Amino acid sequence: MKVIEVKHLTKRYGKHLAVDDLSFTVEKGQIYGFLGPNGAGKSTTMNIMTGYLGATKGEVLIDGHDILKEPEQAKKCIGYLPEQPPVYPDMTVEEYLKFAAGLKQISGEEREIQIEKVMGLTKLGEVRNRLIANLSKGYKQRVGLAQAVLGFPEIIILDEPTVGLDPKQIIEIRELIRRLAKEHTVILSSHILAEIREVCDYILIIAKGKLVASDTPENLENAMSGAGHVEIE
Ligand code: ATP
Repeated sequence: MKVIEVKHLTKRYGKHLAVDDLSFTVEKGQIYGFLGPNGAGKSTTMNIMTGYLGATKGEVLIDGHDILKEPEQAKKCIGYLPEQPPVYPDMTVEEYLKFAAGLKQISGEEREIQIEKVMGLTKLGEVRNRLIANLSKGYKQRVGLAQAVLGFPEIIILDEPTVGLDPKQIIEIRELIRRLAKEHTVILSSHILAEIREVCDYILIIAKGKLVASDTPENLENAMSGAGHVEIE
């Protein structure tokens, strides 16, 4: 079953074409990877899919809702961790998650239940009363993941979730992504092939805003070894 349909998506920043006629679909339950070098258009595509940015042309359907025409219904289906999430250094982890729940209109007992659940899932319980400013980058990223999961949306979108993390933190975030994928459709971006191959069951390769290839990791690897050498940078 399709949960995301992107049709002929195009985005221009002035004269610069950042996303060029991109079309793809994401099936329910997939871990779907966006692979591409810096500037490929991954963040721009994710920002349009999550309703943060308008498109120049094209259509994005989230669980059947057009993100441009029915943004409220579409946004309810998505949890998003942007590449540069807003930071609230003076809040504790728990205060921040309460604030984030409020933004998603989750309140009362339901808010408390969900916060406990996402803190358990992201293993944040032990730092719940710590100021975000005093957390390591790995813990900060888990806080970002926790807010994306609040509301338990069908789709979780993560823009370069492991950038800037050390190897141990990267392994922890990957494990967390796999845990999330048991109950959600997960889309993540990266410019590292090994990382995408490790966690994703379907990969979309983009460069200069255009689709280069999309397939399972196995099929892409076979195609690449057949081609001898494929340059995506
Ligand atoms: P990165 O891994 O560096 O985040 P990306 O694949 O996410 O790269 P985007 O951030 O979507 O790529 O950028 C795509 C292109 O659009 C790049 O050439 C970038 O310089 C340009 N771009 C992005 N945001 C803007 C903006 N607000 N104004 C003008 N150009 C922009």
